[in-house]
Amino acid sequence: MAAFNVEKIIDVHHWNDTLFSFKTTRDQSLRFKNGQFVMIGLEVNGKPLMRAYSIASANYEDHLEFFSIKVPDGPLTSILQKVKVGDDILISKKPTGTLVHDDLNPGKNLYFLSSGTGLAPFLSLIRDPETYEKFDKVILVHGTRWISELAYQDLILNELPNNEWFEELDIKNKLIYYPTVTREPFRNEGRVTTAIETGQIFEKIGLPPFNPETDRAMLCGSPHFLTDVAALLDKAGLKESPRMGVLGDYVIERAFVEK
Ligand SMILES: Cc1cc2nc3c(=O)[nH]c(=O)nc-3n(C[C@H](O)[C@H](O)[C@H](O)COP(=O)(O)OP(=O)(O)OC[C@H]3O[C@@H](n4cnc5c(N)ncnc54)[C@H](O)[C@@H]3O)c2cc1C
Repeated sequence: MAAFNVEKIIDVHHWNDTLFSFKTTRDQSLRFKNGQFVMIGLEVNGKPLMRAYSIASANYEDHLEFFSIKVPDGPLTSILQKVKVGDDILISKKPTGTLVHDDLNPGKNLYFLSSGTGLAPFLSLIRDPETYEKFDKVILVHGTRWISELAYQDLILNELPNNEWFEELDIKNKLIYYPTVTREPFRNEGRVTTAIETGQIFEKIGLPPFNPETDRAMLCGSPHFLTDVAALLDKAGLKESPRMGVLGDYVIERAFVEK
């Protein structure tokens, strides 16, 4: 049996010169937990060229959605960024990953802490009813360099809160969005880690600093981002889930591997 399904691109959206999103058809047999990733790719010179990608859509949707970087000269993304509606794309049949509700201890506030395309798995998780059933507050933190990299603001700020189904889950009160930008003026400026260290983020969102009794977190972003944020969570007394299937106060997924 082939390891990949061949799907079709059904929508492409370019956010700017460095980021794009696309939707694909979804094989009925593909099952995943919100927050997981798959291998996706294209056939290049007769061979599959595959990379890990978080699934940005929710597991009850008919299609799959991905949020992608355009790496200059990146083996896959230099080609992938040119895909058009109707093109084929390969998608692995075995989703996996650590950003799942099952591995978190119960808590009150759930922080989704992301940088860059690390936002992707949280786009799935903010569309998951379980997120709002299990937590009183869900704080989506997204750190980027430029404002144009703050993708999906309309989904987060308008589409979801005004969706009837999510209204019942009290998403308007529960979902808090904290975008922050490092390289140009914005209402929140600077690194996510600085905002946590100085307490600026807690002041702005109206919640107390990290507390192991109440707070849980999922982290996805660049290797540096993950190391720095995990150190702050450790300092606050939150315990990382040691491996898949074992409960912890926070879980981590890399958004990419530094080469
Ligand atoms: C578990 C996991 C989930 C991932 N999910 C996503 C996702 O949802 N969206 C996504 O765009 N990428 C994601 N990636 C990264 C992805 O697998 C590829 O690295 C990326 O698509 C670039 O592929 P490439 O062949 O063009 O370049 P590569 O040869 O893979 O990467 C070249 C270099 O580009 C940089 N880079 C790669 N990916 C990124 C990125 N996303 N943001 C910033 N710099 C990067 C790194 O420095 C890397 O060494 C994920 C990686 C992992 C391990």
